[in-house]
Formats: sequence, C-alpha cells, structure tokens
Amino acid sequence: MEENDLKLEDIFGSTHFSDDADGINLIAIIGAGIMGQGLAQTIASSGMNVIVVEKDSEHLKKAKELLIESLDQDIKRWSVTESEKKAILSRINWKKDLESVKKCDIIIEAVTEDFKLKEDIFQKLDKLVKEKTIFVSNTSTLSLTKIAETISRSDKIIGMHFLNPVPKIPLVELVKCLHTSNETVKIAKTFATKIGKTSVEVYEYPGFVTTRAIVPLLNEAMYILLEGVATAEHIDTAMKLGYNFKNGPLEMADMMGLDEVLAWMETLWKTLGEPRYRACPILRKLVRERKLGKKTGEGFYKYDKNGKIIASKI
Ligand code: NAD
Repeated sequence: MEENDLKLEDIFGSTHFSDDADGINLIAIIGAGIMGQGLAQTIASSGMNVIVVEKDSEHLKKAKELLIESLDQDIKRWSVTESEKKAILSRINWKKDLESVKKCDIIIEAVTEDFKLKEDIFQKLDKLVKEKTIFVSNTSTLSLTKIAETISRSDKIIGMHFLNPVPKIPLVELVKCLHTSNETVKIAKTFATKIGKTSVEVYEYPGFVTTRAIVPLLNEAMYILLEGVATAEHIDTAMKLGYNFKNGPLEMADMMGLDEVLAWMETLWKTLGEPRYRACPILRKLVRERKLGKKTGEGFYKYDKNGKIIASKI
C-alpha cells in the first residue's frame, strides 16, 4: 500500500468492535431521549462503539434526527467537523430490541424516570447479557439498591448521573449502591475518564448531590412566578446576571424536561418529606398540558425548531 493510501478507518475511526486493554469497548444505551442522545454523542465522540435502543421505530427515528441536528449545530459553532460528524454517526447502531445489546461491556439505562420501567428493563437484561457486563443507570433520584436486590449481579450495578447537555457538562456523579463492588466503581471511573468526564463519588441517597441541590432552586423560581413577583424572563435574567448563572432556573427546567423535573420532585418529596420539594402547581399544570419545555417546543418559554427561545410564555 502506498504511503498516501488512506483507509476509511484512518479518517473516520474504526467501525469494528475490537478489544481494548481496559475491556470497555462496546457500550449500550437504553432510551434515547435528551440524555440518551447526549450520551450516544459523547461516547461515540470518544471513539467507542455504541448501540442505542429505543422502544419503537418512531422514537428511534426521532432520536437519530435530533442527534444529527445537534451535530449540525456543533458544526455551525465550529466545535465539530463534517468528518467528525460522519465518524460519530458511524459508531452508533440504532436498535429496537434489547437482544441486540447481548455483547456489550457496559449498559447505560437512560429511560424515563419511572422505577417500575427501569426495574423491568434491568431484570430482562440480567437474563440476556454476559455475566461480566456492568449495569449503569442515569437515574436522578431513584434507588438502584432496590433494583439490585432483584437481579443476579447486585455488585455490578452503579449509578452514573450525567447532566444535560451531556457532551458539554464535564461532570458525572458515580453513585455507589449498597452492594456495588469496588471493582465496579473502578470500571465506571475508568469509563468516565475515557469519555472525558470528571467523576465525584457519592452514596445512594435521593437526588444525590446535584439534583437534590438544584431542585429546590427550580421550585422556588416557579413559586416566585406563581406569586406574580416577576415574569419568567425577568426571574431568569435576575439569576443569570445576579449570580453569574449560565442559564436561569426556569430556562434550566425547560432544558431538563418538565416531566422529568416533576418526577424528581415527587420522589424527593416522598422520600425526604421536606416541603421545599413539593412541586409548584405551575409545573403540574404545564406537565398536564404536555408542555414539557424545550423537547416539546413549549414550557416556561416557546422554542423554535432549533431549540432557541422565541418568546416568554408566562
Ligand atoms: P426523556 O423523556 O427525554 O427520554 C426518555 C426516553 O426513554 C424516551 O425517548 C422514551 O421513548 C425512552 N423509553 C421509555 N421506555 C423505554 C423502553 N422500554 N425501552 C427503550 N426506551 C424507552 O428523558 P431524559 O431527560 O433523557 O431522562 C432519562 C433519565 O436520565 C431519567 O432517569 C432522568 O432522571 C435522568 N436524567 C435526566 C436529566 C435531564 O436534565 N433531563 C439529567 C440527569 C439525569
């Protein structure tokens, strides 16, 4: 072969599943909503192969389109090149069945914040995949220890709480459950480093550090709005300029997804019993109306198709 003969792999990276020294090569993500898409982009960007599983073709198609849109926006910002985009997409396989994750080393669950749903998925996976496979959940508030007790590999389940938007936020909380082994923590830490994240270790407790601390702030901003103290836009501007926040609390809630924010508050309220976690009625109303924030185009704000705020709603 001539020196100038470049193979496709040299440009786009390998699209084959190959063995790596640390044994972390093939990753699966179950659920391709806001977090699943961000995880797929982040992991594929770091050179690993990813299998993404959604519940049906419609959700799979939508997730793929949104991921391509997100990469196109990154290209406009000059943070990704066209060839990097191709390489990233070539490392992602889109699937509808859990069977396809059989050979994965790490499986990351990122489905809706619903205990029964997550438990059911882990129980099915437990019967399907190899013994060594590590189970990760991205849950923000739910107990993985409870799930661990219903599967055979209770030492191999760990929380990795990534934050939105995953490609841009450098943090992950490593959540150690009652039975998580030190070996599993070590593997999760290595994986976090491999995808460019700094990890902090936390014990399982409702909301860990980040969700527990941010939720009362979001809720308080919603009550300020409810009590008519200021408009959504002015509340966010006050917090951004006053405290040097990148996004205001209502904007943040819209980005996170209002159904997810409500689910976190319900669990924190139920498990910790503190009034500060009692969800503001405005949040309940928006969720009832399926105005879930940026992902549905409307929440505290209205959004255009590129996710840019076009109007303050309330
Ligand atoms: P989301 O609603 O955007 O996405 C959830 C996805 O799961 C949907 O696309 C849904 O179709 C899919 N799903 C549901 N059942 C499924 C099944 N049986 N098989 C495969 N896919 C299925 O939610 P999200 O915001 O991405 O949150 C996912 C998880 O990440 C939650 O546990 C949440 O608490 C956590 N989390 C969210 C954020 C955030 O800011 N949104 C931050 C940190 C952690």
